[in-house]
Amino acid sequence: MAFDDNTSDAARDSEICTHAFEEHQRYEGAIAPPIYQTSLFTFPTLERFTEVMRDERSHFVYSRGLNPTVKLLEDKLAALERGEMAKAFASGMGAISATMMTLLDQGDHVLLVNQAYGPTRQLLEQMARFGVSFSETGGSRGEVEAAVRDNTRLIYIESPSSMRMALADLDGIAELARTRGILTAIDNTWATPLYQKPLTHGIDLTLHTLSKYIGGHSDLVGGVVVGRRELVAPIFEHGHQLLGAALSPHSAFLALRGLRTLPIRMRQHQANVLEVIRYLATQPSVTGLHHPCLATGEAAAWAERQLSGHAGLLSFEIVDPSYVRIAGFIDTLRVFRIGVSWGGYESLAISQRQPDDTGPALIRLAIGLEDVQSLLDDLERAFRTLQ
Ligand SMILES: *Cc1c(COP(=O)(O)O)cnc(C)c1O
Repeated sequence: MAFDDNTSDAARDSEICTHAFEEHQRYEGAIAPPIYQTSLFTFPTLERFTEVMRDERSHFVYSRGLNPTVKLLEDKLAALERGEMAKAFASGMGAISATMMTLLDQGDHVLLVNQAYGPTRQLLEQMARFGVSFSETGGSRGEVEAAVRDNTRLIYIESPSSMRMALADLDGIAELARTRGILTAIDNTWATPLYQKPLTHGIDLTLHTLSKYIGGHSDLVGGVVVGRRELVAPIFEHGHQLLGAALSPHSAFLALRGLRTLPIRMRQHQANVLEVIRYLATQPSVTGLHHPCLATGEAAAWAERQLSGHAGLLSFEIVDPSYVRIAGFIDTLRVFRIGVSWGGYESLAISQRQPDDTGPALIRLAIGLEDVQSLLDDLERAFRTLQ
């Protein structure tokens, strides 16, 4: 696939999401790639088999390694992230745990930048059993510089993060890490590969769950890690093949179908979320509103430099944030459904506040693809319960 350097990022991404890497002649002309629903691949002679087994991970041998449907998805995701190689996994956590298990040794320290996705933090808590420690810090270069230790092996970033949509200075952190010989990885799920390309800012590895915007229809679970071949190849060899969280060909097909419409879906999520934020900003019961389009100070400069668009996930706080008031608000919603995850066509609302009024008092909304006026009307009814 050749792009001349003048091709804009958006045009190039659209080509990747639709036609790139597809070889219809190989599939009898079928416009949709076949689902290679097979566990193993056969060979005409023992000689050919023996030859292939010398370099098993470059050939179709067994679907816990390479599978053609999964490989098509991996090629597209690597290209979208401007990376050399991608490996797909059975879930986002599969990709995250394989990456950590491959890169980290006993005695290593991981620095988490911004509030990490809960299960990522729990994974690192588990890894204390193997002598891996972690600590947490904010997203500026200065904060990261103050928090790195002599044994820091990996700086693991979430930007934007998925509860408070906090941002980090990718260029600054990448540059600092390079001078210290520390690896950097980012969970890029919020922005999707369309709206943020961390590898182009010097980050070493970018990870996604496919279960959110990339799948886009709330009907699959999957994950991916993308980066230079020298980093992703060992993650494939150890973290993928030995831990075994392989993506199924069927889920890969669904993710490929999701990619077809990712650019237009993201455009609609963005249009809807900007209207919802405009509305929320007028509500006297809203005290704090969290979304990268509202970033101020140095975070605004990072957003400007790193993000080329806005996804539909936001959170906010309300006056007197008791469990009863938050539950009253959320239970009044009819178009917004109550559920974890996000990135599908449907709007969702959750809060982590507990009945004993502990836990964060944030209300998180995933703005879906519904008509925006129906979302605003739904919110309007819910806000009436707070007055
Ligand atoms: C959902 C999510 C994950 C985990 O992905 P799974 O596919 O559910 O394992 C990781 N990071 C972020 C930011 C997420 O929202």
